[in-house]
Amino acid sequence: MLGLLAFTTLALQGQVADTSPFRALTLPTPTRVRSASGAPGPDYWQQEASYTIQATLDTAAQTLRGSERIHYVNHSPDSLAFVWIQVEQNIFAANSITYTLNQPPLVFAGGVSFDFTGKGFIGGGVMEKFEALGTPLVRRGYGTMMRVELPAPLAPGAAIDFDVAWHFPIPPYGGGRMGRIGTHLYELGQWYPRLVVYDDVNGWNPLPYIGAGEFYLEYGDYDVTLTVPAGFVVGSTGTVQNPDVVYTPEQRARLARALTSDTGIAIITRAEATTHNAQRTAGTKVWHFAAKNVRDFAWCASPDYRWDASGYHGIQINTLSRPEARPWDEAHRMAHFTIRYFSETWYPYPWPQATTCEGLVEGMEYPMITFVPALPKREDQFWDLMHEFGHEWFPMVVGSDERRYPWMDEGFNSFIDYGAAESYFQGTAYGDTVRRELLSAAQLSALPGREQPMINKPVEQRDLAWAAYQKPPLMLTLLRDAVLDSATFNRAFREYIRRWAFKHPQPAEFFRTMANVSGKDLDWFWREWVFTTARLDQAVDSVKAVGTDSTFVFLSNRAQMVMPVTLELAYPDGTRERRALPIEMWNLGSRFTARFATRKPVVAVTVDPARIYPDVDRSNNRWGR
Ligand SMILES: [Zn+2]
Repeated sequence: MLGLLAFTTLALQGQVADTSPFRALTLPTPTRVRSASGAPGPDYWQQEASYTIQATLDTAAQTLRGSERIHYVNHSPDSLAFVWIQVEQNIFAANSITYTLNQPPLVFAGGVSFDFTGKGFIGGGVMEKFEALGTPLVRRGYGTMMRVELPAPLAPGAAIDFDVAWHFPIPPYGGGRMGRIGTHLYELGQWYPRLVVYDDVNGWNPLPYIGAGEFYLEYGDYDVTLTVPAGFVVGSTGTVQNPDVVYTPEQRARLARALTSDTGIAIITRAEATTHNAQRTAGTKVWHFAAKNVRDFAWCASPDYRWDASGYHGIQINTLSRPEARPWDEAHRMAHFTIRYFSETWYPYPWPQATTCEGLVEGMEYPMITFVPALPKREDQFWDLMHEFGHEWFPMVVGSDERRYPWMDEGFNSFIDYGAAESYFQGTAYGDTVRRELLSAAQLSALPGREQPMINKPVEQRDLAWAAYQKPPLMLTLLRDAVLDSATFNRAFREYIRRWAFKHPQPAEFFRTMANVSGKDLDWFWREWVFTTARLDQAVDSVKAVGTDSTFVFLSNRAQMVMPVTLELAYPDGTRERRALPIEMWNLGSRFTARFATRKPVVAVTVDPARIYPDVDRSNNRWGR
């Protein structure tokens, strides 16, 4: 009888099971590869792709030419008849999807724009050879993807070596991710053919490189030999294997000092860089690099670079910039701060060095190396440099699928970036308020009929700046500050990083880890923030004194999104107090009556007094005077 009564009450309130905001989120069934707790399962596997590359930079022909051996290990339980290879320079081929679509550049708040094309440049890669054991393999290109038939199915546990040769003309502007300035500065990414990820969720992941979606890549080891003009200084993923050849004795001595210095030591001074560039050495020099357990390899090269270095826990931090780059003098301090801050806050930086190259690229990240421009405003300079280094954590350490889920890459990175900016600029107006720009962004971008769910692919997002860079940090900030608490959130988020370091998490692993470690059912939260465009409108409808010692506050939730309520009660003597109500207040519907013990009459009530929510109608947030 009691059960029936309860059912009747719910029915009267119009609550049907399938519209409750608290209904369970439909996630993939846990497996022995991906556990119900969100951790990798006992049978977790991923493929391995290691590369030995020799490449030559021809500055006269503006061509990069290379040969490589790819060592590919099949750790999957499946036999593979073919492999997919990414050949991303084909984004600049005349017939590429990107050129055919001719989409406008991605414009960020503040006017920074990111053009995914080559700005009229026609290029593309030429595959000279793709062999295994001396036998050419049958291959077919599909734009930025290429399928290669294997001579025989690759059995589980087996490995194969591919011998590849290629070249491509270097675009002056490479889609905002790579490029060159004349013949004196090169930033090189997406430059060698690399394996597409084969995983337990989608099998092969040959989603085309159109521009907006970044890279989903396997981990492996790299041995890279670069032949460049003799006067060039090279920064890259990995560590230099032949320092005696590429550095002067004086540079090596300075480097040794830098490793134990918290502040930048000039390895190449501004004066030396200026003289050096003027001299221009003839001939070529060979730089040899090696990197372990990384998902990509990129490099920059210029005869113009000045070079500052410092050390943090044995990690060599490098900034390379042209003498005329302004303001770049503080950049090394910013770089050192960033590596230390993220290491101490989230997860220790796992590689032996971290390099930032100044140049034409608006901001791009690769393992151990980032491309960052010189920007006139100090805050912008910090943000760009720090943001690109933040990518060392997402997605270089936590190797998520960027081509599908930019919110797990740009979004998680942007979230940790706000903490870094608050810390670097602590005590300044900028440091105290920078995170509030996310609420302004919500007002501008989270518009009915226009906003799209965060879960949509990056190439489908009409407002990628909001969906990938702004909404995710707002979401995580509110999860931390309004739903959980800092200690609980930080522990769960750190655990997500630890569990999925050097692995391939999917959204479900993040949701499950956060729920399991925090002990909270967060299905409702992810549904609203990730899978829908639900909006929030909390309201205080009325307030009524009950006797002399209690007050009823009648609250309503007038839009689709539910969030916990914090309210502030004001008294006639000018005093105020805040009360927090848990999310369970909305379990039974969109109206809730809160009863508070109050010894004084309540003259005003304000919902969300700290204004941390993107509440779409603040006019109903206050009752009283
Ligand atoms: Zn980014």
